Order: sequence, then C-alpha cells, then structure tokens
Amino acid sequence: MRSTLPAEVDVAIVGGGIIGISTALALARKGIRVAVFEKGTVAGEQSSRNWGWIRTVGRDPRELPLSAIANDMWTDIQARVNVGYRRTGLAYLAETDKEMARHQAWLNSAKDTGTEGSLLGRDELARLIPTSNRPWIGALYSAGDGVAEPSLATAAIARLAAEAGAMVFERCAVRGLESSAGRTSAVVTELGVVKCASVVLAGGAWSRLFCGNNAVDFPQLKVHASVLRTGPLETGLEMAINGSDFTCRKRADGGYTVSQLGASIADVTPDSIRLCRQFLPAWMAERKYLKLRVGRRFVEEMKIPRHFPLDAPTPFEACRTLDPPPTMKMVDGALGKLKHAFPAFKNATVAQAWAGFIDVTPDAVPVISEVGKIPGFFLAAGFSGHGFGIGPAAGALMADLVTGDTPGVDPKAFRLDRFNA
Ligand SMILES: Cc1cc2nc3c(=O)[nH]c(=O)nc-3n(C[C@H](O)[C@H](O)[C@H](O)COP(=O)(O)OP(=O)(O)OC[C@H]3O[C@@H](n4cnc5c(N)ncnc54)[C@H](O)[C@@H]3O)c2cc1C
Repeated sequence: MRSTLPAEVDVAIVGGGIIGISTALALARKGIRVAVFEKGTVAGEQSSRNWGWIRTVGRDPRELPLSAIANDMWTDIQARVNVGYRRTGLAYLAETDKEMARHQAWLNSAKDTGTEGSLLGRDELARLIPTSNRPWIGALYSAGDGVAEPSLATAAIARLAAEAGAMVFERCAVRGLESSAGRTSAVVTELGVVKCASVVLAGGAWSRLFCGNNAVDFPQLKVHASVLRTGPLETGLEMAINGSDFTCRKRADGGYTVSQLGASIADVTPDSIRLCRQFLPAWMAERKYLKLRVGRRFVEEMKIPRHFPLDAPTPFEACRTLDPPPTMKMVDGALGKLKHAFPAFKNATVAQAWAGFIDVTPDAVPVISEVGKIPGFFLAAGFSGHGFGIGPAAGALMADLVTGDTPGVDPKAFRLDRFNA
C-alpha cells in the first residue's frame, strides 16, 4: 500500500471495500489517475465479513442485469488472481407449497432478464444435497451462481487495481470534500488535501454520515448480522443453500460458512427514528427475518456528531473498523438447524464467529449515482446485504458514470433521487 499522498488525481475514492476497489480497478483500466482512501484496512468491514454468495437468483429484478455481468467478471478475475470463485450452484430450498409458489413468483418477475434460475423438483434436488431429515419438496436453483472467498477477494482485486495504476492508501480517512466554482475539487484526508475532479463515496455503512456532513440526505441504516465458520468437514454438500432458518456454503478451506437470514438485528438508533417513515415498509416486509433491538447502540450512535469540521479528527478516524460482537445465540441456532436438517453435519463445530453491519436502503437496492446537488460527487453505497456478488459490476458501472462512458446497464434504477424526488 502507498504512503505518500499525491497532490492531485482525477478521481478520489472514499472506502476500500469491494465497491471502492472495483471502481478503482475499472477506472485505472481506462487510464484514469485514481486513488482509494481507506480509514482502516482494505475490506476490513462488510467486504471480508460476508457469506461469500455470488447469486442471481432471489435478487430484486432491477439488479439482475448487473449480477449477470458480475458473474462473468468473477470468472475473469479468478483467471488472474485467486479469489476462490467457483460456480458451485446455489439453491433456496422449499418445504411447503407456499415457499415454492414464492420461488415461482420470483421466476415470473425475472422472466425477461435471461435468468438461469429454475425450479427443481423433489428428486432433482435430492440428487444435489446430502440425505436430509427435512421434507424438502424442491428449490429455486441456479447452476451458474456460486461463491467466492471474502477473506481473499477484495485484497486480490486491489492488487489488480494497483497493477493497473490505482493508488490505495490505508489508515487514511477522508474527512470531507472541498469544492470550487460549484464543483467538487478536492478531498480532505487526515494526511492532507488531494485535488481531484471527481469523488466516489463507497463508504459502506458510513456513507450516510459522510453525505450528511455535506448536506446530502442519504437514507441508509445499519443491520447487525452474525456468521460462523466450521472447521473442515466431509458432508457431500458442494452448492450454497438457504434452508429458510439456516444458510450454508462450502469454503475453499473445506469448512462451511453458516448463518441464517433471521440472524439480522436492526438496532433502534436516532437514525432509525429519523428515517422511520421511509423504512417502515421494509421493516414490515422483512419482519420474519429482522429483529428490532433497543440497546446501547442508540446511545453509541447518538454520541457520534452529525456535523463536524474538516481540520480536526472526525468520526471516521475515531472508529477504524466496525467490528461488532456476534450474537452467538443466532449463529448457534443456525448451526443446530443445519445439523438437524443434514446428519452429515453432526460433527460440525464452531471454528470462528463474527458479525458485521450491513448498510441498507429503504428499497434494499443500492445507490450507484451522481449526487445531483454536488457536481463531481458520486455515491455507490447501500448494497443492502448483497453487494459482494455484484461488486465488480457495480464498480464498472460507477466508473462509467464518472467518465461519462455509456454504461453496460441502465443506471436509472440506482439513482439517489428516487428517494428524494
Ligand atoms: C454478515 C454479512 C453477510 C453478507 N453476505 C453477503 C453475500 O453472501 N453476498 C453478497 O453479495 N453480499 C453479502 N453481504 C453484503 C456485502 O458484504 C456488502 O454489500 C459489500 O461488501 C459492500 O461493500 P462496500 O465496499 O460498499 O462496503 P464495505 O465493505 O463496508 O466498505 C466500505 C469501506 O469504506 C471505509 N470508509 C468509510 N468511510 C470512510 C472515510 N470517510 N474515509 C475512508 N474510508 C472510509 C470503511 O472503513 C470500509 O472499509 C453481507 C454482509 C454481511 C455483513
């Protein structure tokens, strides 16, 4: 990683998660002078903590064109550096007719997008999974979906970006923006000012705070999610599966990453009160999987200043890495259900557990957009728990928006002004 700041670049990127790094790779490959500033370490937050699923099935149809491109990009990336990408296949299992009907409804909604997804019947599914104690009647399945290793991926893509000419600075928080003649003109980092024509904010869960200090309202909240991994285990399960009360995918180290959709907690914070009206429909729709928690997070977030000067340390330097403790009851519960469902997992033990804060928008679709009121300021955040898989394609789209090139997908669905119009 670099240590001496450049005086000037074309594009400054705030945040070294998969989105910021993928944007840097795409820009550097276009010959643009680009620098990524990361307050902690590359992929220290969500991008190294996720399940590693790279899926098209089950997505909001607005994201499907991006995810189809991303699947091909992962193949290309894996050919250059080891990110642990494998098209293992991925299935949402169903036990009831109601669940199968939901999967069919998703297929109907995606039928014009060229999805590879299809419904598997009981026997077809049985051939792909180990012997089970649960009465699965079928699944929503895509053979072309798969997984990569979050512990490897973003750092490896950062190496590709550096080879293409991008500069990456760690432990270098961006405090804010400077503008001149009504346009973005520089970033103020904790190590000094760097002039630039454009800034891309790919700050994950910090993006609302950063935007707010620049008088931009980005409706974004955090959701706490817990995960565990087992040690290496022979089970015969190769594909990634979601069994509604557990999820599981094989890791490159021979263990399994295990969690459950219901292992997510929405802490009540001052922002959840401010954004209550916008998020209420999402909370209602997700209430089966999301638990509301009133606790110390309210006070912790209340203490973070929402407006701060740029000539003194900011909240971004006060917390280098969001590293919340996991909720063991939830991950142990998921492992227990997995063991019950598949006896092949009976000897699985917890090798490690961790948690992360997922950044979510009211419609669970990211913003990949210019921020209209500040020309030259772009936002790529709010990936709502599924930004790892589409990360490379989202970065390529952001790069096209910055340079004004024709993007590979229609960016309209990702505009920020859909919330503020
Ligand atoms: C438990 C869990 C499971 C998930 N499972 C999946 C999955 O299976 N598949 C999938 O596709 N997605 C999954 N996700 C979501 C996925 O991980 C995220 O959508 C994706 O990693 C977001 O990437 P990002 O670059 O936007 O954010 P992050 O990876 O959070 O990176 C943002 C970075 O910006 C830095 N930053 C913020 N502010 C500043 C500043 N002012 N100056 C400098 N740096 C700053 C932060 O330190 C951070 O490193 C999961 C997430 C979690 C937590």
